[in-house]
Amino acid sequence: MHAIAVKQGETRPELIDIERPEPDEGEVLVKTLRVGIDGTDFEVLSGSHDAFPEGSDYQILGHEAVGVVESPNGTALNEGDIVVPTVRRPANTPSRFFENNEPDMAPPGEYVERGISGAHGYMSEYFTTPASFLVSLPESLADVGFLVEPISNAEKALELAQRSRSTFEWQDSAGLVLGNGPLGLLTLAMLADQCERTYCLGRRERPDPTIDIIEELGATYINSQQTAVDEIPTVYEPMDLVFEATGHAKHAFSTIEALDANGVGVLLGIPDDWEFSVNGGALHRQLVLQNKALLGSVNSNIRHYQRARDTLAEYPDWFLPSIMTTQCPVSEFADAFEDTPDTIKSYVDFRV
Ligand code: NDP
Ligand code: ZN
Repeated sequence: MHAIAVKQGETRPELIDIERPEPDEGEVLVKTLRVGIDGTDFEVLSGSHDAFPEGSDYQILGHEAVGVVESPNGTALNEGDIVVPTVRRPANTPSRFFENNEPDMAPPGEYVERGISGAHGYMSEYFTTPASFLVSLPESLADVGFLVEPISNAEKALELAQRSRSTFEWQDSAGLVLGNGPLGLLTLAMLADQCERTYCLGRRERPDPTIDIIEELGATYINSQQTAVDEIPTVYEPMDLVFEATGHAKHAFSTIEALDANGVGVLLGIPDDWEFSVNGGALHRQLVLQNKALLGSVNSNIRHYQRARDTLAEYPDWFLPSIMTTQCPVSEFADAFEDTPDTIKSYVDFRV
């Protein structure tokens, strides 16, 4: 079967031919429908995760997938079920987090990540996985199901943020998303129902398709080249909730200043090393004297996938087609890895 992989020492994806996998006991054979691409795939290509599956000189890419059960292999699933696989799998070490169905909270060393580090991904015609790592989707979501994975990360982060404010009557009237990439836009569309006023920060000038989407969602676009994150309370309003999805490390600290008293900021971006100076005293003081919270969040568990499935079904009809900009058949897979100004979300379609 065909698979899209990066070979050891290479930085470009290649089409390879490999044996179709056989499911072990408790595993399901899934026929891949679509696999999304995001920044993490480019990190894998650049070698920054640098942990190929044991004994393999290539890494099959892809961690955002949707497929259809080809062989349930004695599990509770049925042939034809639409399913989305989770990303983390246990490493060769006992982990209470996997036992508790909370692999997203496992520390590094206790997990591998399919398509990212230490395990093959889903960019192949078929894949196998234990049934317990699959979430079922209604047939109507088969085309967009690969977005469940990124949405689940936002679900987890928002849950952490909300729970951190659960000891008092918190009001999340004003919500700000930092970043207008796929993760930022998918989250902004979730917050549109939750917050009375929403904002999204990017660094692009008009005309730009992401700015059109932001405004169509009823949110206000903030250009970071005109308004820095710490100026947002004065120019717009202080925020109850900030969701960071840029990977721009300075934004992590400016988030504290963008928050209203009692507000919470949740950071998802994954920056490279970057040394800069901040007024640590002022930030520390604001966190304490204004009951602010700043949290980090990574990955998600099956509960968040299930919630993401519901969120996916509730987006306005126009929204998902507007962000799914680049569909590539396997034969033209390389195009899915090209970034153009109009690209928001690319995916490889294994059905065509
Ligand atoms: P993208 O890189 O596609 O999106 C980032 C967006 O932020 C881009 O639109 C970019 O603008 C914008 N941006 C970057 N720097 C600035 C800046 N200084 N001012 C204003 N806007 C800025 O990534 P994703 O949307 O896929 O993901 C967002 C981040 O979250 C990434 O760092 C990713 O690694 C991380 N991530 C974390 C997860 C987790 O579980 N913690 C899960 C998934 C992703 P432009 O396009 O114009 O450059
Ligand atoms: Zn991802």
